[in-house]
Amino acid sequence: MVSRLILCSSRGQKRNVFQPYFQNTQRHHELSTKPFSHRSFSNSNPRRLAASSVRTYSSSRGGVILDSLPRTAKIVEVGPRDGLQNEKQLVPTVTKLELINRLAQSGLSVIEATSFVSPKWVPQMGDHREIITSLDLNGPLNYPVLTPNVMGYKAAVAAGAKEVAIFSAASEGFVKRNINASIDESLKRFEEVCNSAKQDGVLVRGYVSCVIECPYDGKSDPEVVRWVSERLLEMGCYEVSLGDTIGVGTPPTFITMLEEVLTTVPVDKVAVHCHDTYGQALANIFASLQLGVNVIDSSVAGLGGCPFAAGASGNVATEDVLYMLDGLGIETGVDLDAVVDAGRFISNALGRPIAARAANAVLAKRARESEKLQKAKAETA
Ligand SMILES: [Zn+2]
Repeated sequence: MVSRLILCSSRGQKRNVFQPYFQNTQRHHELSTKPFSHRSFSNSNPRRLAASSVRTYSSSRGGVILDSLPRTAKIVEVGPRDGLQNEKQLVPTVTKLELINRLAQSGLSVIEATSFVSPKWVPQMGDHREIITSLDLNGPLNYPVLTPNVMGYKAAVAAGAKEVAIFSAASEGFVKRNINASIDESLKRFEEVCNSAKQDGVLVRGYVSCVIECPYDGKSDPEVVRWVSERLLEMGCYEVSLGDTIGVGTPPTFITMLEEVLTTVPVDKVAVHCHDTYGQALANIFASLQLGVNVIDSSVAGLGGCPFAAGASGNVATEDVLYMLDGLGIETGVDLDAVVDAGRFISNALGRPIAARAANAVLAKRARESEKLQKAKAETA
């Protein structure tokens, strides 16, 4: 049972999620001994003043919570694969390459480029060979490709891929529907991929889908998420990306799941992959950052969706994540403006509005500024 702010971890301990950040402060005693009620957050309430005055215990970044966050974060851009894979209309290869090249110029260090899945199953990814052979695979950027089996792996490596991604899930029902196997069988199938990758010097990234909930089995067990993550790392993955595939998580469910995973999995091997179906992705990412996770999967212009959940929206938009990280003072090395332009390019190509709030805000601001400039020019002319 999860109550407001008090979380029961799977080990049966109760912890106030705010507690660590108030330690060693005079306010700590006052805040932690009074029961929390969200109704207490009114303007006239002295507790509101107490809580906000905690900010005065700050240092450079403006607060104890902010100081506990990672200083840097890595964005794993998944738009060209995870995003476009769900597009019904076939996107021309040249458009995909233009998108990837624009993204590459924004400072991103990882762009998931395509999937070496059979074109019979996913026609959208049928141009995988053309995509991967057109990219600079010896440069500073990593272009992982999804490989659903050994055949896909071999084709990817033959085409020059230096990094592949494999996947399982924390739900038996999801794996069964996807690849007609149990979780255990799915992992065994990837053992061969991992063994070959070791010999070939190819990096392997692991995905765990449905870490919060599954469209078939309901709520996922955090212990299963931990177990699958451990297995993927043991097999040779350098990182596991924990996916809220249908985007139903909220900060308490994310924190509960991550706390369990982090009991055995080092935090620097964990990434989060949030879908924004219920508008919770940024909140879940912020919660993950507080637990030290600083690798975030996101998708330019919020591309993507989940074919298994009606109404599920796409991955969290890269532009929105970048805007938040920038506001938190977390360095990514990625230029928001350049990603906004890449997002506008692909949204125009797909003939749809940009599903990234920060991108729309940036574009509106640009339009206002250029209008002002035009006016000023006209006045001086
Ligand atoms: Zn996704």
